[in-house]
This record gives sequence, structure tokens and C-alpha cells, in this order.
Amino acid sequence: MKALAYVLEAFKEPLIAREIVIPELEAGQVLVKIKAAGVCGSDLHIWQGEDPRARLPMILGHEGVGEVAGIKGRKLTVEGEELKEGDLIFWNRGVSCGHCYYCAVLQEASLCPNRVVQGINISCSEPPYLNGCYAEYIILQAGADIFRVPAGIDPAVLVAASCSGATAAHGFDLARPEPGDTVVVIGPGPLGLFAVAFARSYGATNVVVSGGSKARLEMGREFGATVTLDRHAVPKEERRQIILGLTYGRGADLVVEAAGNAAALQEAITLARPGGTVLSIGFSQPGGTFAFDGYQHLARRNIRLQGVWVSDTRHVYRAMAMILTQPGLFAGMITHRFPLTRVNEALRVMASKEAVKAVLVP
Ligand code: ZN
Ligand code: ZN
Repeated sequence: MKALAYVLEAFKEPLIAREIVIPELEAGQVLVKIKAAGVCGSDLHIWQGEDPRARLPMILGHEGVGEVAGIKGRKLTVEGEELKEGDLIFWNRGVSCGHCYYCAVLQEASLCPNRVVQGINISCSEPPYLNGCYAEYIILQAGADIFRVPAGIDPAVLVAASCSGATAAHGFDLARPEPGDTVVVIGPGPLGLFAVAFARSYGATNVVVSGGSKARLEMGREFGATVTLDRHAVPKEERRQIILGLTYGRGADLVVEAAGNAAALQEAITLARPGGTVLSIGFSQPGGTFAFDGYQHLARRNIRLQGVWVSDTRHVYRAMAMILTQPGLFAGMITHRFPLTRVNEALRVMASKEAVKAVLVP
């Protein structure tokens, strides 16, 4: 039996349809028929050759929901239920080793140097070959943490929980705002929209979203933003004055950089109050540099600067739970749906920012 997969063979070139033989499963592996695959901003960076983790040739797609089509041996979900063929499932895309210093001592699996992420850092020339979600089938590795998806949920709505949602959940796990706080989110893409939802769930009173797209800012408002700032209409210094005005001249308690570029991080540092936190969740690839004054920007104002690298199973779970509380709201994030065969078009609408989120569905 063969599976259709779209393979990245050369950067910036269209993905190529290939038929890949489905291999015999090894113990603990799960064959999954993809029901929805998210097109992530990271996929664009990998496609364009900007992500050093890429291993060509590869099948892109690290955000998937699918149906169990085969299991080798007995496999339990995170909740302890035995997986069966036909189950609709969701999984943590990253599989860490569990035994290195980061996994075993620090319990920070997202920093594991042996972490394998199908669709990001494993080629389709390595077993089990079906190593990405832009395909009819994926073979989950033996160590994958799996969740059963509740009946009645649209698989497409869940895909963002595996990446942008989980990264935002990780960030908020590290920099927890308090009820009454003012939170600023820079960048109203999927990461930023999750950040708005988490900020509200932690009890933030003012949630300010700043960005360049009117449609995305409007979506930010639907997700719970109380103030939106269009950076084309409101210049940088004016944005800072508005935030000072909301906070009795102090600045924001928490500023979330969700844009993945140097200008956004630089601005974030200027918007935090003394003693406040700057949380950077936007960088999944190099995004430029800026001049940084340790005295003025960090020490003198007692700023906490928190970076975030990917996520672990607990964050994937929180992001999934966040979507399940209001699936209708998160469905609004999916602006485009394409069949697998139109994957190159899906990449294009994400690259042009025409789409907030594009999802491949069979
Ligand atoms: Zn490890
Ligand atoms: Zn991603």
C-alpha cells in the first residue's frame, strides 16, 4: 500500500507529489490517516530555506489530526485508554528522549537535544518515511504522546493547538499574568490570538493587540482584546503613550512578542513597566538583531526577559483544552481550507498573509 505525500525536495520550489510505500509498523508506532493538517508559519520558513532544522527531502506539516489506521502492539492515550483503529486522535508532534539532562533532570522536554519532530527535523528518507502531515498518512513514532479527540469536534479546528497554541501555552506557563494585569500582544497571527485567549483566561483586565492587518486585529477583538492598535495608523511612540495611558504611566505588566522579528521584540521591551515581563514566543527561526542597552533596557527597569522554545505535551494539552472550551471562536481563525492536492496554494495564501490559518483537509 502506498500513500500520497507532498515532498519538499528543493527550497522555494513547489512541493512535489510522491507516492511513498507504507512500511511495516514497528512496535509502538501508529499509522494515522490525516483528517486535517495545519499550515504553520514555520512551514513557510522551512520551505524558504530559513529554518536550520530542515532535512531535505522532507514532508512538511507538523500540525495534524487523524484517524488511527494501524497500531503495532498495545498503545495507550495520555488518559490511559487503549487506542483502537478508527479512533480520531491528536498528538504532541515532538518526541523527546526522556533520558537526557533536560528531559530527566530539568523536566524541560522542549529543550531535549534529541527531540524529533516529524514535519520539521526528520527527512522522509529516514524510517518510518511518512514523517509529516502533508500526506494521506503519517506514522507516529513509538514515543508519541497521543490524545483521543472528543466526538463531534471538527478536526481542522484542533490543528493549531499542536504548534502555535502549545507554544503560547508554554509562554504563559512561564510568565503567568495576574488578574487585573495589562497584557500587550504584538502580532495578531495564530500565536498572538492564542496569547490573547490565554491572557483573558489568566484574568488580565486590559489586553492590547498590536498588528498591521485590520482583519487580524478584528479577530483579536473577538478573542478578547480590549484595545487594538493598527501599526500603520498609530505610530510607535503613540502606541507607547496609549499603553502608558492605560496603566497610570507604568507600562504593561506583560508584553508578548508574537511576531518573530527584531523590531517587535525591541518595541516589546519599551512597553513593559518597571519590573514587568517581556515574553518572546514569536521566533521559530532567526528574525534579525537590534541594539540592546543592558543598563537602560534591562537592569535599570528590572525587566524579566523570557524566551520560549517550542512546547511539551502538557502545553499541547492546555492548548487543546483552550480550543475545546470555545471551538466556534477558534474555528474563526481558519480562513482557508484546501484539499491536500492544493498544498502549494495553501503555502501561498499563508505567505501573502491573506490567510490567518490555512488547513489541508482530505
Ligand atoms: Zn532528552
Ligand atoms: Zn508550527
